[in-house]
Amino acid sequence: MKPVVIVTMFECPSAVEFQTIVTGRDSTHVVKLDPNVQDRNNPSWQCSCRTFAARKACPHIEIAQKRWCGWNQATHGGEPVLGRCPRCGQRAKPVLIGREVEA
Ligand SMILES: [Zn+2]
Ligand SMILES: [Zn+2]
Repeated sequence: MKPVVIVTMFECPSAVEFQTIVTGRDSTHVVKLDPNVQDRNNPSWQCSCRTFAARKACPHIEIAQKRWCGWNQATHGGEPVLGRCPRCGQRAKPVLIGREVEA
């Protein structure tokens, strides 16, 4: 087993929590990140519309993804700027990440 070191990385709050309103043709829909899936590299999306309920996919999610920041330092690199997300300016949150290192 390789030793693991814990490092502090930063991420945008939107990396794990994001919700936006998308206006469709006849109504508005709430699109959000699935709060039960905390995989930053493969986030899961939910929409309140009927199409999503039936097919687990809908065009509103694509619109929401364009508004979404989702920056995390481990995946995207970069540094917080004055404690804020370098992409959208929300206050960056520290997260502890375990990394394997070569012995
Ligand atoms: Zn939808
Ligand atoms: Zn951000």
